[in-house]
Amino acid sequence: MSIAENLAQVKSNIAKAAEAAGRDPSEILLVGATKMNDAARVREAIAAGLPCCGENRVQELLEKNAAGAYEGAQLHFIGTLQKNKAKYLVGLVSLIHSVDSAELMREISRQAEKRGIVQDILLEVNTGGEASKSGFSPAALPMALEAAKDFSGIRVRGLMTIPPICRAPEENLPYFRLLRQLFIDNGEKKYDNVYMDFMSMGMSGDYEAAIACGANIVRVGTAIFGQRHYPAPPA
Ligand SMILES: *Cc1c(COP(=O)(O)O)cnc(C)c1O
Repeated sequence: MSIAENLAQVKSNIAKAAEAAGRDPSEILLVGATKMNDAARVREAIAAGLPCCGENRVQELLEKNAAGAYEGAQLHFIGTLQKNKAKYLVGLVSLIHSVDSAELMREISRQAEKRGIVQDILLEVNTGGEASKSGFSPAALPMALEAAKDFSGIRVRGLMTIPPICRAPEENLPYFRLLRQLFIDNGEKKYDNVYMDFMSMGMSGDYEAAIACGANIVRVGTAIFGQRHYPAPPA
């Protein structure tokens, strides 16, 4: 199947999942997880109607951006971000999904202030409580949201999660429901400089389940671009 055919299928699945949940499909943003797909393939997806690209490595994003890969689409950053690389993204991407510490909030804010802009971010929540994953624990989230008022270069626009790897989409429902509950509960507290607009959850295997739980941003790679071919480890 071509990228265009895959994309049409994913969009149609998104529309069905939204309608089944009584939601308007147009309120759900499809982010194409473009990692390991070169500029030509990214351009192909945008030409076929992909509205937004999400990269998870800074170096790869900068190289593909220099090659004009993202023209005509929004650009988000969805991967783990080291503090010393924040400066490359601020002002270049419209949303950073994966902010996982107050130190990173501070650094993004500092870089944005230097450029005289406000950078939109999401806070990543470690809903599965996995030691191997980054993100705020649900218990630590209120403190991070409270801290947002001190950082005038950022605007917290919502929450993101990557649940544990599951065999079946329905196994992710408890993690998606947890993120939705945190979204609602913390949204009601009306923290300064926090706007609970976006809930980013759901990937190729489970975006429909995530939409059923309220996701309004889904990050889909494989289902659009096909399997990624990771280089073999050195012998
Ligand atoms: C790669 C990636 C995705 C998409 O994964 P697929 O299973 O290929 O759809 C989503 N979110 C993040 C953060 C990713 O790095």
